[in-house]
Amino acid sequence: MQPHTKSERSESAMSIWPDDHPYAATVSFDFDAEEVWIGENPANASAPGVLSQGAYGPRVAVPLILDMLERQGVRATFYVCGKDALRHPASVRSIVEAGHEVAHHGHSHTSPTSLSAAEEREELAAGLEALRALGADVVGYRSPSWEFSTATLDLLVEAGFDYSSNLLDHILPYAHAGHDLIEVPVSWILDDAPHFWFSNDSWEKTIRSTREVLEVWVPEIDGIAKYGGHVMITTHPMVSGRPSRLAMLEGVVEHLKETGAWIAPTREIAAHTRANGPFELRTGS
Ligand SMILES: [Zn+2]
Repeated sequence: MQPHTKSERSESAMSIWPDDHPYAATVSFDFDAEEVWIGENPANASAPGVLSQGAYGPRVAVPLILDMLERQGVRATFYVCGKDALRHPASVRSIVEAGHEVAHHGHSHTSPTSLSAAEEREELAAGLEALRALGADVVGYRSPSWEFSTATLDLLVEAGFDYSSNLLDHILPYAHAGHDLIEVPVSWILDDAPHFWFSNDSWEKTIRSTREVLEVWVPEIDGIAKYGGHVMITTHPMVSGRPSRLAMLEGVVEHLKETGAWIAPTREIAAHTRANGPFELRTGS
Protein backbone atom coordinates (compact mmCIF):
# COMPACT_ATOMS: atom_id res chain seq x y z
CA MET A 1 0.00 0.00 0.00
CA GLN A 2 1.26 3.44 -0.88
CA PRO A 3 0.44 6.75 0.75
CA HIS A 4 -1.74 9.03 -1.35
CA THR A 5 -1.47 12.73 -1.69
CA LYS A 6 -4.71 14.64 -1.07
CA SER A 7 -5.39 15.23 -4.74
CA GLU A 8 -4.76 11.59 -5.61
CA ARG A 9 -7.19 10.53 -2.93
CA SER A 10 -10.01 12.72 -4.23
CA GLU A 11 -9.37 11.65 -7.84
CA SER A 12 -9.60 8.02 -6.81
CA ALA A 13 -12.81 8.36 -4.83
CA MET A 14 -14.57 6.05 -7.27
CA SER A 15 -11.75 3.55 -7.42
CA ILE A 16 -12.58 -0.10 -8.06
CA TRP A 17 -9.30 -1.07 -6.39
CA PRO A 18 -8.59 -1.74 -2.70
CA ASP A 19 -7.91 1.20 -0.38
CA ASP A 20 -8.87 3.69 -3.10
CA HIS A 21 -5.76 3.04 -5.16
CA PRO A 22 -6.46 4.80 -8.48
CA TYR A 23 -5.22 1.87 -10.55
CA ALA A 24 -3.60 -1.54 -10.21
CA ALA A 25 -0.44 -3.17 -11.52
CA THR A 26 1.28 -6.52 -11.59
CA VAL A 27 4.96 -7.10 -12.19
CA SER A 28 5.19 -10.51 -13.84
CA PHE A 29 8.08 -12.64 -15.00
CA ASP A 30 7.92 -15.50 -17.49
CA PHE A 31 10.73 -17.61 -16.03
CA ASP A 32 11.33 -19.46 -19.34
CA ALA A 33 15.04 -20.39 -18.83
CA GLU A 34 16.11 -23.21 -21.18
CA GLU A 35 12.59 -24.42 -22.04
CA VAL A 36 11.72 -21.43 -24.20
CA TRP A 37 14.68 -22.12 -26.50
CA ILE A 38 13.90 -25.84 -26.70
CA GLY A 39 10.24 -25.02 -27.40
CA GLU A 40 11.31 -22.68 -30.17
CA ASN A 41 13.50 -25.33 -31.77
CA PRO A 42 13.98 -28.82 -30.29
CA ALA A 43 17.50 -28.91 -31.82
CA ASN A 44 18.48 -26.25 -29.26
CA ALA A 45 18.39 -29.00 -26.59
CA SER A 46 21.93 -29.82 -27.71
CA ALA A 47 23.08 -26.22 -28.24
CA PRO A 48 24.73 -25.12 -24.98
CA GLY A 49 25.38 -21.59 -26.26
CA VAL A 50 21.71 -21.00 -27.06
CA LEU A 51 20.58 -22.58 -23.80
CA SER A 52 23.01 -20.47 -21.79
CA GLN A 53 20.88 -17.40 -22.61
CA GLY A 54 18.06 -19.05 -20.67
CA ALA A 55 20.39 -20.27 -17.92
CA TYR A 56 21.27 -16.64 -17.18
CA GLY A 57 17.75 -16.37 -15.69
CA PRO A 58 18.02 -18.69 -12.68
CA ARG A 59 21.78 -18.29 -12.42
CA VAL A 60 22.07 -14.49 -12.28
CA ALA A 61 18.79 -12.70 -12.97
CA VAL A 62 16.43 -14.30 -10.47
CA PRO A 63 18.59 -13.52 -7.40
CA LEU A 64 19.01 -9.93 -8.61
CA ILE A 65 15.29 -9.60 -9.33
CA LEU A 66 14.33 -11.02 -5.91
CA ASP A 67 16.72 -8.55 -4.32
CA MET A 68 15.15 -5.64 -6.22
CA LEU A 69 11.60 -6.74 -5.37
CA GLU A 70 12.47 -7.04 -1.69
CA ARG A 71 14.09 -3.61 -1.72
CA GLN A 72 10.92 -2.17 -3.29
CA GLY A 73 8.56 -4.15 -1.07
CA VAL A 74 6.75 -5.59 -4.08
CA ARG A 75 5.35 -9.10 -4.53
CA ALA A 76 5.37 -10.35 -8.12
CA THR A 77 4.17 -13.30 -10.16
CA PHE A 78 6.52 -15.76 -11.85
CA TYR A 79 5.13 -18.01 -14.61
CA VAL A 80 7.27 -21.14 -14.67
CA CYS A 81 7.41 -24.16 -16.99
CA GLY A 82 7.34 -27.48 -15.11
CA LYS A 83 10.49 -28.67 -16.88
CA ASP A 84 12.33 -25.48 -15.90
CA ALA A 85 11.21 -26.06 -12.30
CA LEU A 86 12.63 -29.60 -12.43
CA ARG A 87 15.87 -28.18 -13.85
CA HIS A 88 16.13 -25.29 -11.36
CA PRO A 89 14.32 -26.32 -8.17
CA ALA A 90 16.39 -24.10 -5.88
CA SER A 91 15.63 -21.03 -7.97
CA VAL A 92 11.88 -21.69 -7.98
CA ARG A 93 11.93 -22.47 -4.26
CA SER A 94 13.68 -19.15 -3.60
CA ILE A 95 10.84 -17.36 -5.43
CA VAL A 96 8.19 -19.17 -3.38
CA GLU A 97 10.06 -18.56 -0.13
CA ALA A 98 10.32 -14.83 -0.88
CA GLY A 99 6.50 -14.69 -0.92
CA HIS A 100 5.95 -14.29 -4.66
CA GLU A 101 3.31 -16.09 -6.67
CA VAL A 102 4.44 -18.98 -8.85
CA ALA A 103 2.02 -19.92 -11.62
CA HIS A 104 1.83 -22.34 -14.56
CA HIS A 105 3.57 -21.64 -17.88
CA GLY A 106 3.22 -25.07 -19.50
CA HIS A 107 5.26 -28.12 -18.56
CA SER A 108 7.35 -27.68 -21.67
CA HIS A 109 7.32 -24.33 -23.49
CA THR A 110 4.86 -25.58 -26.11
CA SER A 111 1.88 -23.68 -27.45
CA PRO A 112 -1.43 -25.39 -26.61
CA THR A 113 -2.39 -24.93 -30.25
CA SER A 114 0.14 -27.56 -31.28
CA LEU A 115 -1.07 -30.14 -28.73
CA SER A 116 -4.00 -32.56 -28.72
CA ALA A 117 -6.45 -32.11 -25.84
CA ALA A 118 -4.99 -35.22 -24.18
CA GLU A 119 -1.44 -33.86 -24.50
CA GLU A 120 -2.55 -30.50 -23.18
CA ARG A 121 -4.18 -32.16 -20.16
CA GLU A 122 -0.91 -34.02 -19.50
CA GLU A 123 1.11 -30.78 -19.80
CA LEU A 124 -1.14 -29.06 -17.27
CA ALA A 125 -0.94 -31.98 -14.82
CA ALA A 126 2.83 -32.43 -15.12
CA GLY A 127 3.49 -28.72 -14.70
CA LEU A 128 1.23 -28.53 -11.65
CA GLU A 129 2.99 -31.52 -10.10
CA ALA A 130 6.47 -30.03 -10.66
CA LEU A 131 5.53 -26.61 -9.24
CA ARG A 132 3.54 -27.94 -6.28
CA ALA A 133 6.45 -30.22 -5.34
CA LEU A 134 8.45 -27.03 -4.73
CA GLY A 135 5.82 -25.55 -2.44
CA ALA A 136 3.98 -23.37 -4.96
CA ASP A 137 0.21 -22.91 -4.52
CA VAL A 138 -0.65 -22.65 -8.22
CA VAL A 139 -3.92 -20.99 -9.24
CA GLY A 140 -2.97 -19.20 -12.47
CA TYR A 141 -2.03 -20.16 -16.01
CA ARG A 142 -0.15 -18.23 -18.68
CA SER A 143 0.26 -20.22 -21.87
CA PRO A 144 3.76 -20.27 -23.41
CA SER A 145 2.30 -18.55 -26.48
CA TRP A 146 -0.45 -16.38 -24.90
CA GLU A 147 -2.73 -18.59 -27.00
CA PHE A 148 -5.46 -21.12 -26.32
CA SER A 149 -6.47 -24.28 -28.15
CA THR A 150 -10.19 -24.99 -28.42
CA ALA A 151 -9.81 -27.15 -25.27
CA THR A 152 -7.74 -24.84 -23.07
CA LEU A 153 -10.46 -23.05 -21.13
CA ASP A 154 -12.31 -26.31 -20.37
CA LEU A 155 -9.05 -27.94 -19.27
CA LEU A 156 -8.14 -25.00 -17.00
CA VAL A 157 -11.52 -25.21 -15.25
CA GLU A 158 -11.20 -29.00 -15.01
CA ALA A 159 -7.76 -28.64 -13.39
CA GLY A 160 -9.10 -26.11 -10.88
CA PHE A 161 -7.33 -22.96 -12.05
CA ASP A 162 -8.69 -19.65 -10.78
CA TYR A 163 -7.41 -17.40 -13.55
CA SER A 164 -5.79 -17.10 -16.97
CA SER A 165 -3.37 -14.34 -18.01
CA ASN A 166 -3.26 -14.71 -21.78
CA LEU A 167 -5.59 -12.46 -23.73
CA LEU A 168 -4.94 -8.95 -25.00
CA ASP A 169 -8.49 -7.65 -25.17
CA HIS A 170 -8.76 -5.29 -22.19
CA ILE A 171 -6.95 -3.15 -19.65
CA LEU A 172 -9.17 -4.50 -16.88
CA PRO A 173 -9.48 -8.04 -15.58
CA TYR A 174 -12.83 -9.74 -16.24
CA ALA A 175 -14.69 -13.02 -15.87
CA HIS A 176 -14.67 -15.37 -18.88
CA ALA A 177 -18.16 -15.88 -20.27
CA GLY A 178 -19.09 -19.55 -20.04
CA HIS A 179 -16.08 -20.59 -17.96
CA ASP A 180 -15.46 -20.17 -14.25
CA LEU A 181 -12.19 -18.32 -14.81
CA ILE A 182 -10.97 -14.75 -14.40
CA GLU A 183 -8.87 -13.29 -17.24
CA VAL A 184 -6.09 -10.86 -16.30
CA PRO A 185 -5.05 -9.47 -19.70
CA VAL A 186 -1.55 -8.93 -21.05
CA SER A 187 -0.22 -6.70 -23.84
CA TRP A 188 2.74 -6.68 -26.20
CA ILE A 189 3.43 -3.03 -25.49
CA LEU A 190 4.18 -3.72 -21.79
CA ASP A 191 6.12 -6.91 -22.52
CA ASP A 192 9.92 -6.70 -22.57
CA ALA A 193 10.30 -9.23 -25.41
CA PRO A 194 9.15 -7.14 -28.40
CA HIS A 195 11.59 -4.41 -27.37
CA PHE A 196 14.57 -6.35 -26.09
CA TRP A 197 14.35 -9.98 -27.21
CA PHE A 198 17.25 -11.02 -29.38
CA SER A 199 17.94 -14.36 -30.92
CA ASN A 200 20.88 -15.45 -33.00
CA ASP A 201 18.64 -16.54 -35.88
CA SER A 202 16.99 -13.15 -36.51
CA TRP A 203 19.52 -10.38 -36.89
CA GLU A 204 16.92 -8.09 -38.47
CA LYS A 205 15.54 -7.33 -35.02
CA THR A 206 17.77 -4.94 -33.16
CA ILE A 207 17.97 -4.38 -29.42
CA ARG A 208 16.33 -1.20 -28.14
CA SER A 209 17.76 1.01 -25.43
CA THR A 210 16.18 1.27 -21.99
CA ARG A 211 15.54 4.95 -22.69
CA GLU A 212 13.47 4.09 -25.77
CA VAL A 213 11.50 1.44 -23.91
CA LEU A 214 10.76 3.80 -21.04
CA GLU A 215 9.43 6.25 -23.63
CA VAL A 216 6.99 3.53 -24.68
CA TRP A 217 6.14 2.14 -21.24
CA VAL A 218 5.64 5.19 -19.06
CA PRO A 219 2.94 6.89 -21.19
CA GLU A 220 1.14 3.56 -21.52
CA ILE A 221 1.25 3.03 -17.73
CA ASP A 222 0.05 6.59 -17.14
CA GLY A 223 -2.70 6.09 -19.72
CA ILE A 224 -3.96 2.93 -18.04
CA ALA A 225 -3.77 4.73 -14.68
CA LYS A 226 -5.97 7.52 -16.04
CA TYR A 227 -8.71 5.00 -16.84
CA GLY A 228 -8.32 3.19 -13.52
CA GLY A 229 -7.19 0.02 -15.28
CA HIS A 230 -4.71 -2.73 -14.57
CA VAL A 231 -1.10 -2.54 -15.77
CA MET A 232 0.38 -5.96 -16.53
CA ILE A 233 4.14 -5.72 -16.91
CA THR A 234 5.46 -8.89 -18.54
CA THR A 235 9.17 -9.52 -18.37
CA HIS A 236 11.62 -12.40 -18.66
CA PRO A 237 14.54 -12.87 -16.25
CA MET A 238 16.95 -13.58 -19.12
CA VAL A 239 15.87 -10.31 -20.76
CA SER A 240 15.04 -7.87 -17.97
CA GLY A 241 17.52 -9.35 -15.52
CA ARG A 242 20.41 -7.79 -17.47
CA PRO A 243 21.79 -5.07 -15.19
CA SER A 244 20.78 -2.07 -17.30
CA ARG A 245 17.24 -3.33 -17.75
CA LEU A 246 16.87 -4.34 -14.13
CA ALA A 247 17.69 -0.76 -13.19
CA MET A 248 15.04 0.36 -15.67
CA LEU A 249 12.51 -2.09 -14.22
CA GLU A 250 13.22 -0.83 -10.72
CA GLY A 251 12.56 2.70 -11.97
CA VAL A 252 9.25 1.50 -13.43
CA VAL A 253 8.30 -0.06 -10.09
CA GLU A 254 9.12 3.23 -8.36
CA HIS A 255 6.94 5.05 -10.91
CA LEU A 256 4.05 2.66 -10.22
CA LYS A 257 4.39 3.31 -6.50
CA GLU A 258 4.71 7.08 -6.87
CA THR A 259 1.55 7.23 -8.99
CA GLY A 260 -0.49 5.23 -6.48
CA ALA A 261 -0.79 1.81 -8.12
CA TRP A 262 -2.07 -1.11 -6.10
CA ILE A 263 0.79 -3.48 -6.96
CA ALA A 264 -0.26 -7.07 -6.41
CA PRO A 265 0.48 -10.54 -7.78
CA THR A 266 -1.91 -11.63 -10.53
CA ARG A 267 -3.72 -14.05 -8.22
CA GLU A 268 -4.76 -11.15 -5.97
CA ILE A 269 -5.93 -9.11 -8.96
CA ALA A 270 -7.99 -12.14 -10.03
CA ALA A 271 -9.40 -12.73 -6.54
CA HIS A 272 -10.33 -9.04 -6.22
CA THR A 273 -12.08 -9.21 -9.60
CA ARG A 274 -13.96 -12.36 -8.66
CA ALA A 275 -15.17 -10.75 -5.44
CA ASN A 276 -15.91 -7.24 -6.73
CA GLY A 277 -16.27 -7.31 -10.53
CA PRO A 278 -17.40 -6.70 -13.20
CA PHE A 279 -15.38 -3.52 -13.51
CA GLU A 280 -15.63 -0.59 -15.87
CA LEU A 281 -13.01 1.91 -16.95
CA ARG A 282 -13.09 5.33 -15.34
CA THR A 283 -14.07 7.78 -18.06
CA GLY A 284 -15.48 11.28 -18.24
CA SER A 285 -14.27 14.16 -16.08
ZN1 LIG B 1 7.51 -18.09 -21.96
